[in-house]
Amino acid sequence: MIDFSLTTKQLEIQEKYRDFANRFIRPNRMKYDESCEFPWDIVKQAYKEGLMNGPVPVKWGGNGFGIFESSLGSEELGAACVGIGICIDANTLALTPLLLSGTEDQQKKYFGLIKEQQAVAAYCLTEPNAGSDVAGIKSTAILKGDKYILNGHKRFITNGEVAAFHTVFALTNPEKGARSLTPFIVPTDLPGVEIVSKLKKMGQHASVQNEIKYNDVEVPVENRLGKEGRGFMVAMKTFDRTRTGVAALSLGAAREAYEISRDWAKDRIQFNKPIAANQAVGFMLADMATEIEAARMLTWRAAWSYDNDQKDVSVLSAMSKMYASDVAMKVATNAVQVMAGDGYSKEYPVEKIMRDVKLCQIYEGTNQVQRVVISKRILK
Ligand SMILES: Cc1cc2nc3c(=O)[nH]c(=O)nc-3n(C[C@H](O)[C@H](O)[C@H](O)COP(=O)(O)OP(=O)(O)OC[C@H]3O[C@@H](n4cnc5c(N)ncnc54)[C@H](O)[C@@H]3O)c2cc1C
Repeated sequence: MIDFSLTTKQLEIQEKYRDFANRFIRPNRMKYDESCEFPWDIVKQAYKEGLMNGPVPVKWGGNGFGIFESSLGSEELGAACVGIGICIDANTLALTPLLLSGTEDQQKKYFGLIKEQQAVAAYCLTEPNAGSDVAGIKSTAILKGDKYILNGHKRFITNGEVAAFHTVFALTNPEKGARSLTPFIVPTDLPGVEIVSKLKKMGQHASVQNEIKYNDVEVPVENRLGKEGRGFMVAMKTFDRTRTGVAALSLGAAREAYEISRDWAKDRIQFNKPIAANQAVGFMLADMATEIEAARMLTWRAAWSYDNDQKDVSVLSAMSKMYASDVAMKVATNAVQVMAGDGYSKEYPVEKIMRDVKLCQIYEGTNQVQRVVISKRILK
């Protein structure tokens, strides 16, 4: 029996995130868009209200949310500001390898640390020559006694400069290539962790990205997550969980752009009638509403499938991320078009949303890469 209504608990979670977004994110989103600074005050407030680390188990100080509950929260964060939302969700991304392959002791220590310090973590996979092609990673972590000596160069790392630790993927045996890829917890105060630069970018300005070098960083053996060589699988399984989050952030942003442009179109009078009364505008709004609804259904289905151990979670999470972010880009572009000069101005948030959602088509695997994942699966 299919039931699309949310449970009381799910409605409560949704309302909690919506209320938080209304009180702290919406009033400050343009400020952070202009300052390009990490919104520590909002992150600390999210900690205070128990909205950080949603999927972390309750015993380690998280909320123990499933992917479905997390995606309800992410939609609300994305509606208020994708840039601020990703500061919170990228932390979840960085913690996921610990969740998937950390030991009890590692989880206790690092989930504990992150909560206690009200800190954030960063997920360090991408390198200058390994973007879409994760198998091209060249960073190395070579075992010497009871330490791994980490050397490497990462880029586009969200939360890099503000993180308490990095989850770094490196090769333990360069001759074996990606078959030796392994994730490590690397505290950022270890000697040799160097933040090289901060990325200047089109949108999502509240979120920071860094180029990072690891120069002979001595990483204790106990910071290795899982067995050597399981890193590629951990990275892919991480994305199975988190791509639905990008879908939900995109969905929220699309909803916001649609609602702002719809309301504006009902008020704006040209040729003695609201512009919404023109079929050309009404049909654009109809398409937006329909595609947002379809994106939500796909996101919910992907999230539900993950939580219920269904097969095809990889393909469904790829579909949800690809479809919802493509819809968000289209809806945001059309929202600007509906509002024309006002849409293009900074008086309204739709120009920011248009800049912000472009990135949702790029990170956690470009939408072309999602299509590779999907086509490989359906043509198998
Ligand atoms: C703001 C921002 C935040 C990010 N945050 C993080 C982070 O926290 N951690 C992290 O590890 N990474 C992060 N990334 C990296 C992000 O995941 C990569 O940028 C993305 O995976 C694409 O890699 P690339 O930019 O090197 O593009 P490339 O891989 O060079 O791709 C260039 C183009 O070629 C296309 N292409 C490549 N291969 C194929 C193929 N096989 N088939 C079809 N088309 C293909 C791509 O779709 C794209 O259009 C972030 C990136 C940005 C911009």
